[in-house]
Amino acid sequence: MKQRPITIAKIQRGTVIDHIPAGHAFLISQMLGLNALARETGDIMAIGVNFESASIKRKDIIKVENFSLTRDMLNVVALIAPHATVSRIADGVVIEKHKVEVPTHVGDIVICPDSFCITNHEEVPGKFLVVAHDPLTLMCHYCETEFFGPLIKYKEKTSL
Ligand SMILES: [Zn+2]
Repeated sequence: MKQRPITIAKIQRGTVIDHIPAGHAFLISQMLGLNALARETGDIMAIGVNFESASIKRKDIIKVENFSLTRDMLNVVALIAPHATVSRIADGVVIEKHKVEVPTHVGDIVICPDSFCITNHEEVPGKFLVVAHDPLTLMCHYCETEFFGPLIKYKEKTSL
């Protein structure tokens, strides 16, 4: 296929999350509460979907103006997009760029798939251990269920 140029709003200052596996940008945006944030601030948020990428075939990109990621947010990005790169932009240029790192532990952002698990019956915040990276596999701290792929369901959050 012919290489098409990537044209997505340029931001002067903020954060770019690149190399997100295609189709996952909306989940990340939802998990980070970016829609609500953009509505609140009026700042630019651009989501690009299905761009061609040399390394992962198809990728999504998220750009958010006047925004930087907290450690918890970086963990969310790393779980959903383990090969993502995060760049900080100031005065229209990249001042910092790094690959995300998959965390060793995951907090209350994932739902345990075992319906008998205490976390699904009582007000117990989820706690998970990352037991493998490829594919990403989590183990519930309470019931020790291991799960990966589509069984990893994220809790919807509007702020972290
Ligand atoms: Zn569990």
